[in-house]
Amino acid sequence: METYQLYIDGAFSDAEGGATAPTINPYNGEPVADIPVASVADAERAIAAARKAFDEGPWPSMPGAERGELIGKLSAIMKERSKELAANESRDSGGTIVKCGADAYLAQRQMAYFGQMAANYNAEAKEIEGMSREGRSYNYTIREPIGVCASIIPWNFPLLMAVWKLGPALATGNTIILKPASDTPLNALELARIVDEIGFPPGVVNIISGPGGVIGEVLTTSPLVDKVAFTGSTEVGRDIMSKAAGTLKKVTLECGGKSANIVLHDANWDIAIDGSIFASFYHQGQVCESGTRLLLPKDQLDDFVAEMVRKLESLPMGDPLDPATKVGPVVSERQMQTVLDYIEIGKGEGAVLACGGERATDGDLANGYFVKPTIFTGVTNDMRIAQEEIFGPVLCVMAYESDDEAVAIANDSIFGLGGGVWSEDIDHAKQVAARMRTGTVWINDWHLLSERMPFGGYKQSGVGREFGEEGLNEYTEVKSLHVDDAKTRDKKPWYDMLVPREDAGA
Ligand code: NAP
Ligand code: MG
Repeated sequence: METYQLYIDGAFSDAEGGATAPTINPYNGEPVADIPVASVADAERAIAAARKAFDEGPWPSMPGAERGELIGKLSAIMKERSKELAANESRDSGGTIVKCGADAYLAQRQMAYFGQMAANYNAEAKEIEGMSREGRSYNYTIREPIGVCASIIPWNFPLLMAVWKLGPALATGNTIILKPASDTPLNALELARIVDEIGFPPGVVNIISGPGGVIGEVLTTSPLVDKVAFTGSTEVGRDIMSKAAGTLKKVTLECGGKSANIVLHDANWDIAIDGSIFASFYHQGQVCESGTRLLLPKDQLDDFVAEMVRKLESLPMGDPLDPATKVGPVVSERQMQTVLDYIEIGKGEGAVLACGGERATDGDLANGYFVKPTIFTGVTNDMRIAQEEIFGPVLCVMAYESDDEAVAIANDSIFGLGGGVWSEDIDHAKQVAARMRTGTVWINDWHLLSERMPFGGYKQSGVGREFGEEGLNEYTEVKSLHVDDAKTRDKKPWYDMLVPREDAGA
């Protein structure tokens, strides 16, 4: 079995004391590789390296185009190795090979985008009009990197989440410590190998695997860290925000969701049924913006759900490495138990199972962490299964009788990450979309995200945005410059110059 190492200050090393833990394949419960378990001392070493690289190294002041070239090389090698990265990801996370292949493709494309953005982003200082005084002074703003970024990512899209953190931090000249989820550390550590081959300046990229509950503390409280970028659960997001408050770190959070999927009365069922299955069950529902609350017109609910169940039960479940598989395992035994517990909670709250509701154990499935795709009807929005993020293949179906009611149910949530509307009348769909309090709304679609569009959450789904120019802005500070370059050095009326005396009422 292969053994990985931490990547700190441009060198590979074991974790303190040589601590390792296996990462597990959720398809069969077997170990995939030996992963280093970083200690607090290892995290402190990574932070010190990133600090030094930012304060003393060439990286932050390197022309954007040069940084972009290195990021472009990273993307190119990721592209060359995309098959290998996809297979790693599948064995590590249980994602189907089709999903992991798509992720590997998107990961290199997005990394290439960040490389291009490095060259173009704010290359020119931005002049502010209307501030000059008698033509002798002028004003402009520039954006500068924030400094040392600690980036903590979850297990559902391990490779993509690593790119979403590395890409913008590096493009804008920050240094970074990346911590992958303990369930899926493999591809982040593979990226460390690629970074090392390319030869980024030492300390610019540091990648350390280890328990969030232990090293997360030092990453979020260290006075040497300037920004924390986190993707994960809302619960941990709250904890991170409170810990970062001690040193007023910049914080961006991409947290949980409970996205409402509103099928309007005039939807095209041919696409709305398959689309709603894709919205809620893609990657076994382990997607932060999954459409986990399906809102159906009351008079259409029974027929719509019956057709959904029929289609859902024919989706092939099995070995994630088989390209025919559409339903794989959930990420871990622990996550499987969480999902099964929520199914019991739903039954206890009086929701009615339309399908699924249990572990799948036919043949080889018994060795893995498979949960049958589950639909609950008879759900009311006050139930825990409608309010809490389950993060598994469990869909809650609710009835509505008017657009107003659908919107009210959709917005009655602490979350505001995604949402969707299905209709043949696009104007109607847009009217409903405009009323949804979420960062993204899909119309007749789901899960598609572009690296050129900002992504993030309203309400307790997050703070800040990733992607697009908004995303890069989250990795920079703005500096305002005021310059007087008058050629004639007239004496200035210092105390009278801010506001003319007559305006000052003196
Ligand atoms: P999680 O438990 O919040 O863990 C996420 C990351 O935080 C992991 O790397 C974890 O490390 C680390 N962590 C745990 N406790 C920590 C602490 N006290 N301080 C600092 N870091 C800590 O979430 P998850 O279960 O892995 O992922 C599922 C969640 O992520 C869902 O809620 C989902 O909605 C959310 N998510 C959101 C987005 C988005 O873009 N909005 C995208 C993907 C996922 P360990 O693995 O070592 O515990
Ligand atoms: Mg694993």
